[in-house]
Amino acid sequence: MSRRILIAGNWKMNKTSAEGAALVKEIVAGLPKGNLPEVLVCPPYLTIPAVVEAAKGSPVAVGAENVHWAASGAYTGEVSTGMLLDAGLTHVIVGHSERRQYFGETDETVNLRSKAAVEAGLVTVICVGETLTERENGETASVIDRQTRKALEGISDYSKVVIAYEPVWAIGTGKTATPDMAQEVHAQIRAILTDIYGETAAESVRILYGGSMKPANAPELLAKKDIDGGLIGGASLKAPDFLALVAAGAAV
Ligand code: PEP
Repeated sequence: MSRRILIAGNWKMNKTSAEGAALVKEIVAGLPKGNLPEVLVCPPYLTIPAVVEAAKGSPVAVGAENVHWAASGAYTGEVSTGMLLDAGLTHVIVGHSERRQYFGETDETVNLRSKAAVEAGLVTVICVGETLTERENGETASVIDRQTRKALEGISDYSKVVIAYEPVWAIGTGKTATPDMAQEVHAQIRAILTDIYGETAAESVRILYGGSMKPANAPELLAKKDIDGGLIGGASLKAPDFLALVAAGAAV
C-alpha cells in the first residue's frame, strides 16, 4: 500500500499575518514541478485568514495547531472545529508535546480534541513521543503505546488520522532520532494501528516523524518503510529549507 508523503510545517508562535502570507507565497512559487507530496502549513490562529488567502488555489493546505472538542461555549481562549472549517482549514495538529508540557494537555484531552477533529472531517495530526527521561528509563515503548491508544479511543474513521512520532528530546534541540531509532517506533505505532483497525487500514495511515528534521537528514528518514513524512518546526519557517523538505518528500 503506498501512502502519500505529507510534509507539514508547524509554525508554532511565529510569523505575523504579513510574514506568514509572504512565506506561503514563497513556498508556492518554489514548489517542484511534477509529483508533489501533500504539503501543509500550520500557522498561529490569528494569522490563519491571511495564510489561507495566500495559499488559495495552490496545492498548499492550511491547518491549525490545536482545537477544542466543544462546538461552542464558555471555553476562554479556545477555538472549535467549526471555526477552523469556517476559516477554510482542512487539517489540525493535536497533542503537540509543547501543549502537553506547557499547557496541561493530557492523554484524555488529546483524545477529546482528536475525536472532535476527526468527527468534523479535519485531517488530524496526533502527536505522540517520549521525553528524554522516559527514553533513558526504557519507557519509550510503553509511553508510545499509552499515548497512541488513548488518543485513538472512540475514533473509527482512521482515514482522517495521521500520527506524528515526535521524540520530545529531539524537538527544537538539533538532536534527531537516527533513522533506525525512528523506524523502530514507527513500526511499533503501525502495529498498534493494526491491532486497533486491522492490517489494511493500518497500512493506509500516515506516520510522520518530527524532531529537528531538516534538508540534510530528511532523505534518510523518509527512506524508512514506516516514515511517511515529517512534522517540521524550525525548518518550516524558511522557504528554502521547507522547499528542500518538500523536494525530499517528492523524491521518495
Ligand atoms: C515540532 O515542533 O513539531 C518540531 C518537530 O520542531 P523542530 O522541527 O523544530 O524540532
